[in-house]
Amino acid sequence: MPPVFRFAPSPNGYLHLGHALSALLNFEAARASGGRFLLRIEDIDGARSRADYEAAIYEDLAWLGIAWEQPVRRQSEHMSVYGEAVQRLQQAGLVYPAFESRADITRLVAERERQGPWPRDPDGAPLYPGAARTMDADARAALITSDAPYALRLDTAAAVARTGPLSWQEQGTGPAGETGTMVATPERWGDVIVARKETPTSYHLSVVIDDALQGVTHVIRGQDLFWSTSVHRLLQGLLDLPAPLYRHHPLVRDEHGRKLSKSTHATSLRALRAAGLTADDIRARIGLPRA
Ligand code: GLU
Repeated sequence: MPPVFRFAPSPNGYLHLGHALSALLNFEAARASGGRFLLRIEDIDGARSRADYEAAIYEDLAWLGIAWEQPVRRQSEHMSVYGEAVQRLQQAGLVYPAFESRADITRLVAERERQGPWPRDPDGAPLYPGAARTMDADARAALITSDAPYALRLDTAAAVARTGPLSWQEQGTGPAGETGTMVATPERWGDVIVARKETPTSYHLSVVIDDALQGVTHVIRGQDLFWSTSVHRLLQGLLDLPAPLYRHHPLVRDEHGRKLSKSTHATSLRALRAAGLTADDIRARIGLPRA
């Protein structure tokens, strides 16, 4: 079976130099190994995904000289598949509804921090501080049937107890140069959100399901997702999904050393194109040889 690579952008902004690097590394690794290259549109967030951004993804990738297989998988068209996985996790007693709003969580964290430092996840966000996991069954049932929005959170401790130790093969490097066999540490993320009342999935859940359904064997992506791989391995373990090989690459930074963001238009591929740069200029900016 040929190896299968993918590039999986979210259509919530214009692609920048960092996306160009991920996309080109995947595309060229597929070509060099006689493998397949897939494009997947990660548009589960209906409020932030836009058709014009999706159209721009196709245009920018084609301009870079990238070609992909059809049909393109759009996650918004497969919500029922993710919903079934959520049900499986629910039936296994591994998720619970949490009703706190973002503001409630900020307040709870501030309360905890009055007693001392509260743990943060690898992205620097405080771990879920609430007590919804141990909520009284009647109170929970009443809230579920009310209009209250909720997030379904993974009981990470129970999930880790179920799967046992997990690892992944890292062919690139983590932010501190980690490479080789990596021990997954999903507990560092606390009880992550796997779905919401109005959206039966999350980035973490749909990414592992799609990688498995599409037969993805190699995931090449930015180092910002390196530690998310721990959560991905845990979900793969719980849902009996195979683990691809992972290769995380250093992030492209701006001239001040800052991470690029979709909201800074100066480094978007279309702004650079409009300024007269060629696809080869882009390759040079991200350290790739001329095509
Ligand atoms: N959709 C994610 C993003 O836009 C990338 C997913 C992945 O490569 O695992 O950052």
